Amino acid sequence: MSRDLSNPGNTLELVRKNDFQFKKRYGQNFLVDRKVLTRIIEGAEIDKNDQVLEIGPGIGTLTAELCRASGSVKAVEIDRELIPILKQELSDYDNIDIINADIMELDLCGLFKGSYKVVANLPYYITTPIIMKLFESGADISSVTVMVQREVADRMQAKPGGKDYGVLTLSVSYFAEARIIANVPPNCFVPRPEVSSAVISLRRHERPPVQPKDPEFMFSVIRAAFAQRRKTLVNALSNAPTLGITKEAAASAIESLGLDARIRGERLSLFQFSELSDRLRELSQ
Ligand code: SAM
Repeated sequence: MSRDLSNPGNTLELVRKNDFQFKKRYGQNFLVDRKVLTRIIEGAEIDKNDQVLEIGPGIGTLTAELCRASGSVKAVEIDRELIPILKQELSDYDNIDIINADIMELDLCGLFKGSYKVVANLPYYITTPIIMKLFESGADISSVTVMVQREVADRMQAKPGGKDYGVLTLSVSYFAEARIIANVPPNCFVPRPEVSSAVISLRRHERPPVQPKDPEFMFSVIRAAFAQRRKTLVNALSNAPTLGITKEAAASAIESLGLDARIRGERLSLFQFSELSDRLRELSQ
């Protein structure tokens, strides 16, 4: 039978009754705040026509809300010990499929027929790889609404030139429009994490804002630029063994965009990286 797990007392009682020990290695900080739960559901704009993937359901606090709001939910949890608790807590719902798996090992394209939304309070040790996998998998995901560390949310929304701007910023802006929908302090979880959190909504673009000739190559250029972010872009690109670009070619491509040859990669917008990767491709062909 399900109970209101947004109440910290109920969560702790359930955990104790099942003799469950929180596992730091799986990033287990369970949400215990009704207002934040409501903001996540509202921000994800879910209705009964939606199919939802939840990553890391924990003891099912957010999952129960998702079952109520959506057509169907698949909840992927790595921790085997949580599966019987989830089955018991979600026994009132017939639109839930609980999957005991590591999200990083799962085929995201085969999960649902048609488009789906992702909603999660993500485990913080693996946030960026999960987000990259969601976008790069080719799965038909229309939006991703996730709780992440505040610092990661800031990186997703950063502007060129700042310390937060990097590969994650550019990847997210290629795939989606990012919007922070709630700031969440540590006391909204048990156990309390050491950092502040934020809920971010990533709504997938129907068409990416730039169309480089070879998107994979553009991302190789971006990764090379930020692998050595204190170096000039010319040096960072010509030092990257995977690119095979000479210093002269890098300088010529950068200058052909009207940029200073001493510029650092952290100053370039997504549009400029797209143009630059096309020039570098032309020069290396
Ligand atoms: N959704 C619950 C909530 O909001 O209270 C729990 C969120 S907790 C921050 C993260 C959850 O992700 C934990 O239940 C953890 O066991 C699970 N998890 C960690 N790594 C995972 C992985 N690689 N694949 C699937 N689940 C994972």
